[in-house]
Amino acid sequence: MKTGNMTLRPYSIVHSVIYDEQQGKAIGVKVLDSETKEEIDFFAPVIFLNASTLGSTFILLNSVSKRFPNGLGNGSGELGHNLMDHQYRAGADGDFDGFEDKYYIGRRPNGFYIPRFRNIGKDKRTDFIRGFGYQGSASRENWMRGVKEMMIGEELKDAVTTPGGWTMGMTGFGECLPYHENQVSLSHDKKDAYGLPTLNVDAEWKENEKAMRKDMKADVRTIKKGKRLGDRTYKVHLDGYNQMDMITGKGPSNRQEIWYFGESELGAVRIGDYKYRFIDQPGGWLGDKTKPDVPYLINLRLDPFERTGWPDSGTKTGSQNFFQWFQYEFWRFVFVQQQVEKLIMTAVEFPPMQKGASFNLDAVKAKIEAARAAMGK
Ligand SMILES: Cc1cc2nc3c(=O)[nH]c(=O)nc-3n(C[C@H](O)[C@H](O)[C@H](O)COP(=O)(O)OP(=O)(O)OC[C@H]3O[C@@H](n4cnc5c(N)ncnc54)[C@H](O)[C@@H]3O)c2cc1C
Repeated sequence: MKTGNMTLRPYSIVHSVIYDEQQGKAIGVKVLDSETKEEIDFFAPVIFLNASTLGSTFILLNSVSKRFPNGLGNGSGELGHNLMDHQYRAGADGDFDGFEDKYYIGRRPNGFYIPRFRNIGKDKRTDFIRGFGYQGSASRENWMRGVKEMMIGEELKDAVTTPGGWTMGMTGFGECLPYHENQVSLSHDKKDAYGLPTLNVDAEWKENEKAMRKDMKADVRTIKKGKRLGDRTYKVHLDGYNQMDMITGKGPSNRQEIWYFGESELGAVRIGDYKYRFIDQPGGWLGDKTKPDVPYLINLRLDPFERTGWPDSGTKTGSQNFFQWFQYEFWRFVFVQQQVEKLIMTAVEFPPMQKGASFNLDAVKAKIEAARAAMGK
């Protein structure tokens, strides 16, 4: 605009393109001033039509001439047909606890995107073609949640002036196919406020779009609930605790135990001050693994380097006096068995994703299989 070569003209409705029959080309546009209703023609050697999908189609359909009686460039009769829509609002959302002391500025937390995974590579659907992606984000509920609450007075004021809980949602995005019969056409019977014909939209979703939408919803439910692969339903086992109290200095940790796994092989567990090692690797990381008949038992407060004190090679390492301590503590083996059993029962609902090469508690492994068989899974 600084060069003076461009004029920005508001209130200008382009209603048709001027086609020159002699030259066989478009030479200008017809404009209706929306304020004064004045008709003005503009001419240019090159014309760009950027009035959006429907706006541009309207202008072309409305630009009739001897050469193009059904709209400019419409020799094929396809102008206005094959209208395509977009899938939207097929997804899921949910609330989650925690992070109450966190808020966001601007566009944080960032949204997420799951790119298309349907009908790509080995994934082949028979009920629909093409695919979709997911977009999602998390946010805190705002004052609008007060609308549905049965509150009044101070309680309501407090509630609506503080952020609500966290919610996370995701929704599928996928295009619909082009169908000849999905179309827009000009309605000369129904004119708009400027006396121009209106655009009649006649389109519907068909089987492909409906099947895709069904899958979009099913997949998002699967992501929420867990995934069935082969003959098993896999779920991600989140071994988590709400540690907000500990992080904010208001209370102790809610976690009493730490499980140590190598793939799906249970190697050790720490419960409170005590650690139970089911596997040893006396030669260090590159050495062989050994499996003791009874777990190594260590009080980490007394023996933070886990030397155990168990007498070995006579009394070359450890001490006979170790037994003075051990004789009062080895009841813990029954306790740890009970704890392991509890853990293992969670594997019924959350089966290990990889078969452990050597799940050292073989009896426990058999228990999982028996429990799963009993549940008919
Ligand atoms: C809510 C929303 C969110 C979106 N989010 C995204 C996104 O995140 N990412 C993304 O890639 N896309 C997004 N899109 C899509 C994207 O905005 C559009 O695809 C894109 O803007 C289309 O550009 P366009 O130039 O074809 O049309 P438009 O941007 O619609 O421009 C057309 C212009 O022509 C003017 N016009 C129309 N008719 C006439 C006429 N007869 N005479 C004179 N002027 C006329 C209109 O006033 C308008 O200014 C979103 C769209 C919406 C509605």
